[in-house]
Amino acid sequence: MFNIQHGGFILKKLLMITLTALLALSLFGCAEKKAPAVKSDTLYVKAVENLSDDFILGADVSSLPALEASGVKFYDFEGNEADLLKTLSENGVNYIRVRSWVDPFDKDGHGYGGGNCTVDTAVELGVRAKKYGMKLLADFHYSDFWADPSKQQAPKAWAGMTIEEKTEAVEAYTRESIQKLKAADLTLGMVQIGNETTTGFCGEKTMPKITRLMGAASRVIRELAPETLIAVHLTNPESVNYDGWALQLSANEVDYDVFSSSYYPYWHGTLENLKQKLEGIAKDYGKKVMVAETQWAYTAADTDGQGNTIGDAVTYDKNYIFSPQGQANEIRDVVNTVASIDGGIGVFYWEPAWIAVPGGTYEESLALWEKYGSGWAASYAAEYDPDDAGRYYGGSACDNQALFDAEGKPLESLKVFALVRTGNELPLTVDGAEDATVEVKLNNDIVLPETVGTVMSDNSVKATPVVWDVTEERLKEISASPVGVYTVKGVTDTNDKVPVTCYVKMVEENYVENYSFEKEDRSMWVITDTAPGKQTDFQNKALDAYSGDYSLHFWNADKVGFTVEQTVTGLRAGNYMFSIQAQGGDFDDTADLHIYVEADGKTYTESFRLSGWQVFQNPAIHGIECASGTIKVGVSVDANGGAWGTLDEFLLNPEK
Ligand code: CA
Repeated sequence: MFNIQHGGFILKKLLMITLTALLALSLFGCAEKKAPAVKSDTLYVKAVENLSDDFILGADVSSLPALEASGVKFYDFEGNEADLLKTLSENGVNYIRVRSWVDPFDKDGHGYGGGNCTVDTAVELGVRAKKYGMKLLADFHYSDFWADPSKQQAPKAWAGMTIEEKTEAVEAYTRESIQKLKAADLTLGMVQIGNETTTGFCGEKTMPKITRLMGAASRVIRELAPETLIAVHLTNPESVNYDGWALQLSANEVDYDVFSSSYYPYWHGTLENLKQKLEGIAKDYGKKVMVAETQWAYTAADTDGQGNTIGDAVTYDKNYIFSPQGQANEIRDVVNTVASIDGGIGVFYWEPAWIAVPGGTYEESLALWEKYGSGWAASYAAEYDPDDAGRYYGGSACDNQALFDAEGKPLESLKVFALVRTGNELPLTVDGAEDATVEVKLNNDIVLPETVGTVMSDNSVKATPVVWDVTEERLKEISASPVGVYTVKGVTDTNDKVPVTCYVKMVEENYVENYSFEKEDRSMWVITDTAPGKQTDFQNKALDAYSGDYSLHFWNADKVGFTVEQTVTGLRAGNYMFSIQAQGGDFDDTADLHIYVEADGKTYTESFRLSGWQVFQNPAIHGIECASGTIKVGVSVDANGGAWGTLDEFLLNPEK
């Protein structure tokens, strides 16, 4: 008995030890499964206050399957080959975003590129992401290829449909897509109705039709996936009337939860402005708000032979250094901005892994982009998008904005998604220097700045003396060179000799005041609307400007009509020429665009046509005779509703 009792005791003891061991094991097991705390010895990150546990720190990984098919490999911080989604998750990413096109293939089954993404791509990635606890945002473009402010084309099968037929097509496509997503083992957190729909949606450009189609999509999503958030997505917070959009959506009873915006700092104005716009929507319409796309570059260099959207050639404001630290600061600031809004739910980084495909030459890479759709566009997209994809197809235009290097190794910046929660406030170091810019009239002396701003790891700036690596002869040579941007390199006059760049912009003598609309006082411009409604605005968007950030932008849904002119006085007697730079599209044959000049009682005109985004036309009038010293220069636009464009760089020059 005793033995038995004793045995019982031992048994109990053993059982307890086993239980403790099991408990310890399971705890250990848990700890092993859980991502280790993210640490960095080099990345400075200021913690974001009051970041909720479910705040979305997302990544758009739409191109991943096409990249993997092309032979791209990704690695973790230990140097091991690893599922990209696992590495993202280990570093704080908790949500993925995947775009879906309706039919991004030609009749022979060749993909248009950009990942050849359909709802099947969203299913595949959504299932993979769930393994790492990440939710899916399915981004429906309602197009067969890229939808953004420059294009909102209906799927080819829907072209020519009446609005009634198109509404049915939207419903059927949404139904089929949501059913596929619901049937898969994934967490469908959010669905986006349209992508960057600022200028239209699914081939429609008027709000009644746009909201009718969006409303139809929304009803289907609510019915089939009531637990899923519904998002709309706009862009250009610096210039677009978000409140007007929200008002239209509300007035037309489009049922949605999240009002989202893209935010690319080099184009989209300040974070203060973004916050103000989104906060207004959150407050006035009771919506959640978020940033659906953002990016920053870690290098100006291109790694795959396909020119990048952002590089050194463009001299827009660089709010951050092109470095992993600059990327981390950008991401942290956007997260901080959205988190500070009551109703701000998250931020998605766009395509952090769209890197170079294998291949020693451009031709080898091109073959992979064509075969697997792993570049931004394949040549097969020409049938659908002849003007853009059909001409400029190729690889990644944002490999320098990835959070992975060209070999697929994660950059230190990836850790920011985890570190914004904890902070990693290391002692500050110098991360780089701001670019300097000087504007010099042809044949004038070039004076380079004596100091430049060096940028610290927390993005603070301090003026630092600089030593320019340029001879007097070279500066004289630049001064005598034609209009253009010339680069002078140097280093800071400090022990660490930080490399610096000065862009010397040689410009013509131009008698038009504020000719590029960059200066805030634009009172010298006389703008007269000749059609009802608002016709023009001074737009802050470097991509639409010929030079600088600003241009005179125009668009109207119903009818476009305005003149813009300036009277220049005090000119010496002689001959002159006048020209402008302009880009735009969606004009029909009735459109009348011309530049005009009035001098000494004589009128000169020159007509022009616009044929696409960033395709700048340069109409000019030569041989203007002026004895009076006064010349009026201007542009007249009279066009159909839906026509859009920008005017920039008005130039009035003496001529022999
Ligand atoms: Ca590239």
